[in-house]
Amino acid sequence: MTWDCIVVGGGAAGLSAALVLGRARRRTLIIDKGEPSNRFAHGIGGLLGQDGRAPHDFYADGREELKKYPSVEYRQGEVIDGAPGYTLTLQDGSTETATTVILATGMDYRYPDFPGAKERWGDTAFHCPFCHGWEVRDRPLVVLDPSEFGPDRVKMLKGWSDDVTLITETPRELRDGELVLHDGTVRPCGGLMMATRLHQRSDLAARLGAEAAEPGHVAEDALKLEGPAATTAPGVFAAGDIAAFMPSVANAIAAGSTAAGMAVHHLLVS
Ligand SMILES: Cc1cc2nc3c(=O)[nH]c(=O)nc-3n(C[C@H](O)[C@H](O)[C@H](O)COP(=O)(O)OP(=O)(O)OC[C@H]3O[C@@H](n4cnc5c(N)ncnc54)[C@H](O)[C@@H]3O)c2cc1C
Repeated sequence: MTWDCIVVGGGAAGLSAALVLGRARRRTLIIDKGEPSNRFAHGIGGLLGQDGRAPHDFYADGREELKKYPSVEYRQGEVIDGAPGYTLTLQDGSTETATTVILATGMDYRYPDFPGAKERWGDTAFHCPFCHGWEVRDRPLVVLDPSEFGPDRVKMLKGWSDDVTLITETPRELRDGELVLHDGTVRPCGGLMMATRLHQRSDLAARLGAEAAEPGHVAEDALKLEGPAATTAPGVFAAGDIAAFMPSVANAIAAGSTAAGMAVHHLLVS
């Protein structure tokens, strides 16, 4: 059987796309490895109607909603290869074909690696003040950014606290409430905002013929779009972080909805 659409990735973007495709009665397979980028966070900040909701619960509800739509199948798994046409290969060696593909695989958030950072990632160590700034408001905050954008990040974070310091060297350690700087100085720190770059999680998009854009302010290799959700590969659409200008759950949901609409349109005209 050839699916109308295979959605690769079942985070906010992929679930949203699958919901819209299901309601449009399109034969849709959603394949998801199950590792959304915000799984480390306690809550989703800034999502209307779900503000502060635990990511795990939010995605579980999204999967539950899909069960109402008989043309949608959700499958836990990983797509490891793809070829124009479109044929996708899963990690168990099986293959699936589809007329359209929506890439909603999210991105790999790369941040400086030093003791204490990983344990606090998505909590008091973060990349986005809109997601986490409210929770650390009025505390002493630190920005880690060696680039020319460091002063801008400080200016931005001052919306949440008057006490914001810029550091350009990777610290020795992040502890609860304090940071050990590279020279051994200990500084109060109730939240550390780190310059973070987003990278594609695999070369799947390239294998399908979808080109990456030039490196941007946020992402190293986000997909190039040629109109709403359309990649450079005909019939391959992108949603969520993989093509986002401003990554967030709200934007991923909107992008998934748009990509689904564009995929249905492609099915009608192709
Ligand atoms: C720590 C952290 C905290 C955040 N907090 C917030 C917040 O509070 N508020 C907010 O709005 N935004 C937040 N964000 C940003 C937000 O999480 C992302 O913008 C959003 O989740 C992107 O959704 P997505 O569907 O594009 O990707 P993801 O949510 O990352 O989902 C992608 C899915 O695709 C799967 N996948 C990847 N490759 C494959 C493959 N080859 N085959 C099958 N499946 C695959 C992944 O395992 C994953 O399940 C946070 C990000 C991080 C890193």
